Amino acid sequence: MSDKILLVNGRRVQNDRLTRCELLIDDGKIAAIGEQVTGGEGVHRVDLHGNLVTPGLVDVHVHLREPGFTNKETIATGSAAAVHGGFTTIAAMANLNPTCDTPARFADQVERNKRAGQVKIIQYSPVTVGRKGKQAVDVEQQYQAGARLFSDDGAGIQDAGVVYDAMKQLAKRNLPLCDHAQDDQLSMGGVINAGPVAAKFSLPGMPAISETAQIARNLVIAQATGAHYHVCHVSTKESIDLIRHAKQMGVNVTCEVTPHHLLLADTDIAKDDAEFKMNPPLRRRIDQEACLVGLLDGTIDCIATDHAPHTDKEKQQGFLKSPNGIVGSETAFALLYTRFVKAKIFTLQQLVDWLSVKPQQIFNLPNVGLLRVGDPADIAVFDLAQPTKIKVDQFFSKGHNSPFVGDVVYGSTSRTYVDGRLVYSKEN
Ligand SMILES: [Zn+2]
Repeated sequence: MSDKILLVNGRRVQNDRLTRCELLIDDGKIAAIGEQVTGGEGVHRVDLHGNLVTPGLVDVHVHLREPGFTNKETIATGSAAAVHGGFTTIAAMANLNPTCDTPARFADQVERNKRAGQVKIIQYSPVTVGRKGKQAVDVEQQYQAGARLFSDDGAGIQDAGVVYDAMKQLAKRNLPLCDHAQDDQLSMGGVINAGPVAAKFSLPGMPAISETAQIARNLVIAQATGAHYHVCHVSTKESIDLIRHAKQMGVNVTCEVTPHHLLLADTDIAKDDAEFKMNPPLRRRIDQEACLVGLLDGTIDCIATDHAPHTDKEKQQGFLKSPNGIVGSETAFALLYTRFVKAKIFTLQQLVDWLSVKPQQIFNLPNVGLLRVGDPADIAVFDLAQPTKIKVDQFFSKGHNSPFVGDVVYGSTSRTYVDGRLVYSKEN
């Protein structure tokens, strides 16, 4: 078969308008794109039936669990989940066993990702040795081994001196410290947001200040060192207000929000069901609204899923005992499209940008996030017309832990290409 593929009868969004789209893939790259494109002889034509064509989506926050926790997920299943959701580039967190805190381990992990992944995987380096928060890694050595993103995600870095040292090193290369902002002393061992909902279920509450206080401290350190400070999964109104103010002051700060913090609040938790347990927890309705406002006014830079698979058994233990996190790769686009674009709260352009070009820009990722002639043919195709029900038996992830199972959504993925290779297709 020819390696030339012509996608016809698609649509794409440009300047907030849907226009006809045809796209020619040649030798793994985008060779032409426009309202009408001729493929020449021997081209393989694919009819997209009016579906939406977007750049392959970019998710800067996923957990692939390999090595160490392959009962929850593997690089193969996690990347299969990603392409099922239209993602072609994902950034994988370093809460692995062993973690990749030395150049040799980092190189090993990159190799492992390459061997088993069907998508482009950007590996995070931990910020601290062993992710223990006591001593910063050697950033220059990790950089030489290929590390571009740094995070201890899963845990906050408690020691301000360690953050200061890490940021000083990171600033030299203009690399981001991506922070799971959490002060353990202020978390009070909470498993759900502190407030009336926690009280209703008699569960220990995690106060919002455990996040906000840590962000305040780290913003000041970022300002002093000039480092790029990226806040993972921001969740409280006060955090967003602080980041907005810091941006106005010229601090080099960016942040992401998860789909679940945009879609849910703690008052949506009807019973002690750990499918609603994640960290940071679902917050108050006003925090959920602040996340929306922050996205729309540019305080929040992008959306990232925090895809965090666990086994069914682990998640069936209620809020007190279950691990934190929900899966997100396979449902993010459709949920956000259905709840916000169809409801005219965001535009389709905004949603696509927050999931592609915006993460590309804040982390300076090469050759992703745009539909551009000459770039690798990383492409997602979504069906905006046909409703589908979210079902766990259709997940490619090993994790089934999602509070959105049973929801009816528009915008399911119909095709995903990575470097011009068809890696997911709804039809077969
Ligand atoms: Zn986190």
